[in-house]
Amino acid sequence: MVITIDGPAGAGKTTAARALARALGFRHLDTGAMYRAVTLVALERGLDMADGPALARLAASMDLRLEATGGPDRVLADGRDVSEAIRTPRVNEAVARVATLPELRTRLAEMQRAFARGKDVVAEGRDMGTVVFPEAGLKIYLDADEGERARRRGLELSGRAGVRDGDLARVRLELARRDRTDRGRAVAPLASATDAVRVDSTHMGIDAMVAELVRIARTRIP
Ligand code: C5P
Repeated sequence: MVITIDGPAGAGKTTAARALARALGFRHLDTGAMYRAVTLVALERGLDMADGPALARLAASMDLRLEATGGPDRVLADGRDVSEAIRTPRVNEAVARVATLPELRTRLAEMQRAFARGKDVVAEGRDMGTVVFPEAGLKIYLDADEGERARRRGLELSGRAGVRDGDLARVRLELARRDRTDRGRAVAPLASATDAVRVDSTHMGIDAMVAELVRIARTRIP
């Protein structure tokens, strides 16, 4: 069975997907981490970030692994741990443009379907329910107010890289810009599938959000 979770940045998808996967004994597929890892390596290699075929070839040639740990997943690109490096402002700024490239999306979608083949998976991203897993047993669209999403992203970054309060406005701008690109692109834009269950996490703590998703999932699991 595949459960999809789509939604904008900072809505809580990664936290929700990881906890839901753990509660149900499913594997967690963080597809944002895949777009980020390709973006990171392309930047490092100085590739043309608008060259779809080149970035698709790069993705095809990479040994990309997502490993569950007790906490955040570990992301390995050709054996190198890039879990931290894929979450830097440099990657944040470049990833949504890279994710507009149709050739790359096709390639990553194939890898995502291969990951899920024969397994129970919670897949999170922007186009999981609409494009990659249209037959998913349960689709969730997780949303929250933009201000709240920026606040969460700011907290996450301050834990990681020392972002100050005054940087919150910048975080919000970056997040809004990325969402605009994700919603507006021609191929596989961020959108709720028509058959998705919509959950607004604005006023939910993590525990309440996870409990709600587990409750919804249990009503659907055969
Ligand atoms: O989920 P996360 O914020 O890590 O995703 C980073 C970026 O990767 C998104 O802003 C989006 O541009 C892209 N992405 C995508 N499709 C997905 C997952 C992520 O376009 N399924």
